[in-house]
Amino acid sequence: MNSEDSSRRGLILINTGPGKGKTTAAMGTALRAVGNGMRVLMLQFLKGSWHYGELDSTKAFGEDFVLKQMGRGFVKVGGAETDPEDIRLVESGWSEAHEAIMSGEWDMVVLDEINYAISYGMLDPELVAETLLNRPEMVHVILTGRNAHPILVDIADTVTEMREVKHAYQKGILAQRGIEY
Ligand code: ATP
Ligand code: MG
Repeated sequence: MNSEDSSRRGLILINTGPGKGKTTAAMGTALRAVGNGMRVLMLQFLKGSWHYGELDSTKAFGEDFVLKQMGRGFVKVGGAETDPEDIRLVESGWSEAHEAIMSGEWDMVVLDEINYAISYGMLDPELVAETLLNRPEMVHVILTGRNAHPILVDIADTVTEMREVKHAYQKGILAQRGIEY
């Protein structure tokens, strides 16, 4: 074992903030990890209705880079009631995420958009924190989405806040293939 190996440890990363690049930065980190022979699982909370390009590109990596959508998209935000079906999907998504992190079968687990599920009140941040604190020590976990909960920011090792300088959407430019999906 060389000195690099002995210093290896699992980290918690959070990509948050209003600017674009939270999910795509997580995918870039995942790609880097896969290139190092690591196995990556990316679970996308809330997403499900759009066909993102990454669903196809990750297939090229087989069992080393597995991407799963756990939701159905278009979750009602800020309204009166959250659809119970969306809450059920978040709960089953979290159950799979917990199992995957604790199993030690994955070197990196990306919990994409989980911060939204938490900030919409669909998932208890204490549950997530408990899993992160008790995970096998070599497992890296990346959480994405705006409004990262303070208790998760507190236990994370690296937290990046994406700042919006400008976004094409403000000029009325709709989501573009290869950039947004
Ligand atoms: P990306 O998936 O491109 O890395 P993201 O993960 O930072 O974006 P999300 O909050 O998950 O952003 O939003 C998902 C969608 O909203 C993406 O299509 C993204 O391009 C778009 N988006 C992100 N930030 C903004 C913004 N400030 N204004 C408008 N649309 C945005
Ligand atoms: Mg995202």
